Amino acid sequence: MSDIECKLLIIGAGPGGYVCAIRAGQLGIDTVIVDEGEPGGTCLNVGCIPSKALIHAADEFYKITHASQRPLGISVPQPKIDLAKTVAWKDSIVKRLNTGVSGLMKKAGARFVSGSARFVDGKTVLVRKGDEEHSISAEFIVIASGSAPVELPILPFGGPILSSTEALALTEVPDSLAVVGGGYIGLELGTVFAKLGTEVTVVEAEDHILPLYDTGLTRPVAERLDELGVTVMTGARALGFEDGTLQTDQGEVAADKVLVTVGRRPRTVGIGIEELALTQDGPFVKIDRYCQTSMRGIYAIGDVTGEPMLAHRAMAQGEMVAELVAGHSVEWDKRAIPAVCFTDPEVVTCGALPDEVEGTKTTLFPFQANGRAMTTEREDGLFRVVWRESDHAVVGIQAVGEGISELSAAFSLAIEMGACLEDISATVHAHPTRSESLQEACLRALGHALHI
Ligand code: FAD
Ligand code: NAD
Repeated sequence: MSDIECKLLIIGAGPGGYVCAIRAGQLGIDTVIVDEGEPGGTCLNVGCIPSKALIHAADEFYKITHASQRPLGISVPQPKIDLAKTVAWKDSIVKRLNTGVSGLMKKAGARFVSGSARFVDGKTVLVRKGDEEHSISAEFIVIASGSAPVELPILPFGGPILSSTEALALTEVPDSLAVVGGGYIGLELGTVFAKLGTEVTVVEAEDHILPLYDTGLTRPVAERLDELGVTVMTGARALGFEDGTLQTDQGEVAADKVLVTVGRRPRTVGIGIEELALTQDGPFVKIDRYCQTSMRGIYAIGDVTGEPMLAHRAMAQGEMVAELVAGHSVEWDKRAIPAVCFTDPEVVTCGALPDEVEGTKTTLFPFQANGRAMTTEREDGLFRVVWRESDHAVVGIQAVGEGISELSAAFSLAIEMGACLEDISATVHAHPTRSESLQEACLRALGHALHI
């Protein structure tokens, strides 16, 4: 006999799980959500939100410290940063959002249970907290257990070897930092510390940083890292760490701390997923276009199901699964999921990359020809549209530039709505804004750009 019975049980209250719980509650589904940590998961507690808070703080600090080197005529006495206070501010935002998520779930009528969940069978889960254990049975179960940092055997986490979680909690600015892995997290956090005054070295195994993308898109980020004094070693491998020195196959790097950001692995171990023998997709839980696993009644959403490991993808999947459990007819038919790398400058990609789809062409427009970019002292970066030759449909948009993340909604909207070059070109874009460069890229593709 179960202690709790419900229609829907969700394991994990990250962006995937908590959105699923809120929507399910709104739909009148008797819902229980379990998490061993604070509501909000990786994203809210040790991921998206804390990293963006520190990126903002570091950016402000860097702008102030470098005011006299800029052409604006501003000078300030040498500022200082108290990282412990910055981190306390970041933690206060996290706390506010924890409370907010709890409140939203409660308002929707979903019950939150604190503890660690483990499957007993396809309909029952045991939840343990301290010495207490109780069972929950449900008609439908959603696995939303997320992901955890990958650990390198040669650089086990602990002491000076940090994962992103510890790096986000440092209360003193290290003198030197080696970042192993020049992907999303390594570059976002590496840039934070470089702007705070740390000597940063990035050790990336591939031949360029952010290897998911082509160098045409990532070059402005590489150039800015150089400007910030970050040393980037590419095609390099870390071999070990001893006495404040990171050994690599390209030489030694002096480092007070080493941040290892070589990807994230799904959290499938310890949940009893192995016993259920769910079909896997590599290390991830395999799902179909309904987020249904190989066992009827069990869904999986978010990072545990693989790339792209993004909070907004997890949220969209969570919402869809709630609708499915309510008996609505929906399926995963998103044309594009925007991805933003909050580096300096920021990188946004949405839909197809150049050469990914046959019969497409790519046209770019640089920010050097954009008035707004000039007025913000940042002319680095560009817009790119990937469009189909047969009907001019825009199937991909990429951009790299300061503050470009805020334009990502326009990219997804255009692609979801099936916009073609003519639609975007004929849309009046406000002047002076960086967004005009999207219109200009489309005009350029049609052969009549106005400002280049
Ligand atoms: P998670 O957020 O990982 O949540 C899973 C939850 O399940 C956790 O709370 C965990 O405690 C719980 N759980 C796991 N196992 C159990 C169990 N057995 N019992 C009970 N509870 C359990 N994405 C973006 O889109 N934008 C960003 O800017 C961004 N920045 C990031 C920065 C960093 C430093 C990191 C690490 C990640 C970032 N991400 C970002 C990725 C984003 O955090 C994830 O894609 C997102 O959190 C995935 O959501 P999820 O619901 O699948 O899982
Ligand atoms: P990542 O996949 O973005 O980057 C890992 C990098 O490490 C790659 O460049 C890879 O080539 C390199 N690498 C792998 N093994 C290595 C080794 N032994 N030595 C040196 N380099 C090595 O992974 P991440 O930065 O850890 O981020 C994990 C996930 O979190 C990403 O997939 C992303 O989806 C998500 N995330 C998203 C955001 C965002 O949306 N802004 C921010 C942070 C994280």
